[in-house]
Amino acid sequence: MPDTLTNLIDGEQVPAQSAATLDSIEPATGLVHTRVPDSDDADIDAAVAAARAAFPAWSDTPPAERSRLILRLADLIERDLDRLARAESIDSGKPISLARAVDIPRAAANFRFFATAILHTDSAAHQSNLPGPGGAIRALNVTLRKPRGVAGLISPWNLPLYLLTWKIAPAIATGNTAIAKPSEVTPLTAFMLGELAVEAGLPPGVLNIVHGRGPTAGAALVSHPDVPTISFTGGTETGRAIAHAGADTFKRISLELGGKNPNLVFADAELDDAVATSVRAAFTNQGQICLCGSRILVERSIHDEFVDRLVAGAMARRLGDPLDESTEHGALVSEDHLAKVDSYVQLARELGGEIRCGGKRAAPPNNRCKDGAFYEPTVITGLDPACRPQQEEIFGPVVIVTPFDTDDEALAIANATPYGLASMVWTSNLKRAHHVTERLDTAIVWVNCWMLRDLRTPFGGMKHSGLGREGGKDALNFFTEPKNVCIRL
Ligand code: NAD
Repeated sequence: MPDTLTNLIDGEQVPAQSAATLDSIEPATGLVHTRVPDSDDADIDAAVAAARAAFPAWSDTPPAERSRLILRLADLIERDLDRLARAESIDSGKPISLARAVDIPRAAANFRFFATAILHTDSAAHQSNLPGPGGAIRALNVTLRKPRGVAGLISPWNLPLYLLTWKIAPAIATGNTAIAKPSEVTPLTAFMLGELAVEAGLPPGVLNIVHGRGPTAGAALVSHPDVPTISFTGGTETGRAIAHAGADTFKRISLELGGKNPNLVFADAELDDAVATSVRAAFTNQGQICLCGSRILVERSIHDEFVDRLVAGAMARRLGDPLDESTEHGALVSEDHLAKVDSYVQLARELGGEIRCGGKRAAPPNNRCKDGAFYEPTVITGLDPACRPQQEEIFGPVVIVTPFDTDDEALAIANATPYGLASMVWTSNLKRAHHVTERLDTAIVWVNCWMLRDLRTPFGGMKHSGLGREGGKDALNFFTEPKNVCIRL
């Protein structure tokens, strides 16, 4: 890996024009492992110019040819699976086994999904027979969909390649050109993707990757007058700033934001399954997935047994060096983030919460990781559902369990946060499943499962968890402009 990463602009790997860089730290060791361009508006301007220049030819390229190139990129990601998984693990602290099983295969799947979707799209047509002064007027309405131009794609650090490719794939497959701005915290696999895009033969300027901080590179992209489309995944406050910044130029903006996802466990649930999946849903990727079930609501008659088994499951997770193949629980993404997570646990203590396990920095798993950002899986009980640790996104390996007595009480607690991303329902009663899922204010509901993802389904959040949907037809529509042509017959 190079000592210093570069931006991909117009098919060339180039440093930031200012030559400024940021340190990229391996969270498991606390050591600088590479440097990343600290790009600013000059680099964004160059990338936008390249993307604009590439747009006419790329949008005019037959879908079959775009598909072929994008499928080749998917093949190259799979060819480099081990290298990419290792890089993702070093950069983010996630277990290498998770990166190899989930993050990197999903990045390839994202490209395959949209590269083939564009071969199967259709246009709407309406035969019209409308009343006119002299009798019926017949017309044919055809709705064309055109790529919108240059798309700005901004992603977070928790699933670096997975989420960035989830945006790049539909954007370029539908004929847009793109500027991807990965998280400055985890830039490595985005850099590698840039190299693979060149190898796959994507024409220069179709995909540009500009590294840098949010308030500089990210903000320059969002406010750029020649970027009509912004797809953003990240924190709710950042999403708010982006919505404001994009309003002046009437950008089309999709926002995938934070969550505080309720996991409702009813007494009639299959308990083995509910416990095992709740452990995974709470602690996978050290709890740093927007979809994690961080608030578990358990029917009172099974509450104590559930908590005992959840605690046992949490304590059984193998904490270790992320590069160790057997590790299940790696490092948090940074020391700063660990301090934020720990501050919520301290607050929970002060508010009278009972720390059933964890609640502190973990002992380093080996000498290599002696300065790493490791935090124990933590289960807390005894907190008011209205308190800050129950209301605000902690985004770490911390789960809070609350008992309930009735379905209505469970729903009231579940819905009483500003967020509305995902929820889970555990029950073997179909009628209850229908009743509860209808009333949950979340855009995604999983019944007796978690994170089962069919890429055709709408993905996103309601309330403060986001605006718009990604996935399937929603993504194809987001990146294209409908134009209705009415032909009088
Ligand atoms: P973040 O909002 O701090 O940063 C996300 C991205 O936005 C980064 O690339 C950052 O550089 C950029 N950015 C920051 N300020 C910007 C600005 N003013 N203008 C333009 N870009 C800017 O989020 P994070 O800490 O990287 O990620 C964690 C958050 O992401 C959590 O809240 C999590 O819930 C959320 N998330 C949501 C989803 C989802 O699908 N809903 C998925 C994953 C993560």
